[in-house]
Amino acid sequence: MKQRLSKRAAEMTQGGIRAFFDKAAQYPDAIHLGIGEPDFPTPPEIIEAAERALRDGYTHYTPNAGLPEAREAAADYLARYGVRRDPAEEIIITCGGMGAVFAALQCLVDPGSEVLIQDPQWVNYAAQIRLAGGVPVRVPVYEERDFRLQPEELERRITDRTKLLILNSPNNPTGMVLTEEELAAIGSIACRHDLLVLSDEVYCELLYGGARFHSIGAIPEMAERTVIVNSTSKTFAMTGWRVGFAAGPREIIRKMTVLQENMVSCAPAAGQAAAAYAFRHMPNVRQMRAVYEARRDLLLEGLNAIPGIACRRPDGAFYAFPNIRGTGLTSLEFCERLLEQQHVVVIPGSSFGSCGEGYVRLAYANSEEALRQALQRIRRFSPCAAKS
Ligand code: PLP
Repeated sequence: MKQRLSKRAAEMTQGGIRAFFDKAAQYPDAIHLGIGEPDFPTPPEIIEAAERALRDGYTHYTPNAGLPEAREAAADYLARYGVRRDPAEEIIITCGGMGAVFAALQCLVDPGSEVLIQDPQWVNYAAQIRLAGGVPVRVPVYEERDFRLQPEELERRITDRTKLLILNSPNNPTGMVLTEEELAAIGSIACRHDLLVLSDEVYCELLYGGARFHSIGAIPEMAERTVIVNSTSKTFAMTGWRVGFAAGPREIIRKMTVLQENMVSCAPAAGQAAAAYAFRHMPNVRQMRAVYEARRDLLLEGLNAIPGIACRRPDGAFYAFPNIRGTGLTSLEFCERLLEQQHVVVIPGSSFGSCGEGYVRLAYANSEEALRQALQRIRRFSPCAAKS
């Protein structure tokens, strides 16, 4: 029999995070700090907007690039950050931020193109780059430098084949937020080497302690080389709705629209109407942010009080990325044993890239009560605590 699977499919592997969730399923009392998903329900106003849309007949295909009102709402939303995009031609509504990243990579990456991503970094970029035939090139970031992307580390890895840089600030998994000055330095490297930038801004509303969000797409010289990705998932607790958007130069958005036509046709119609409402009215965003911030502080204090664990203060997203080297365990051993012995799900830093070894990721998208219990269990578990 001929090989059934395409070479591409044969090479695909499941991300390390999923494997952990499968394993956790056998512990009904497990506390889940693994998944990067808001625990809040979608704000009722947004649900009502979708209900209204369904009653009003938003039950059909929409234009491939999305409903005009959703694109206009996205354009007005971007303008808050100083990004100007024409909703008619420079914005596409996608199936989640994931759909936007996928479409962008398919339209920008040729076989052999190198794409710079930081290490550690959200797992799906590397897989999606490979699906586009590209080569992920990792740029290490270091705890001693607050996991900030260092322009010189970036520049050192640029070759003739480098096409694109993926930026993700606020960052998954480190919680790092790039400053305006850092973005300017990165932007000038992109201009000097004629690179495109995919700026994944899905956590841009989740900033704490006075940190401010800046988009590289707002730098005038970067407008023509930046594709911004954003989503309703994290900001409005809408992960299951699968609505996001991309904004960028029209030549790129036009091709992403053709790709979307041939893949899913369009994002769900009522979800797009709900997204238009959400980006215009921003319901509950401030309240959810305040709750995440209180959880972050609770988790940080608790983690830093456990022998063998040290955690820097993350300024954004909803992840803590503590150093667990003091426990003497690898990040995989730490997570496996913590799950088996104390039924707490956290993710090994090594699944985000080799520079993530020695760290674990905890998502604080869970209640304060659950975080307190998890901290107690981690304290009980910690091999260093046992020695001390
Ligand atoms: N980008 C980053 C950095 C993420 O962490 C995620 C989800 O975890 C996404 C994009 C995708 O989000 P969605 O497809 O739900 O909008």
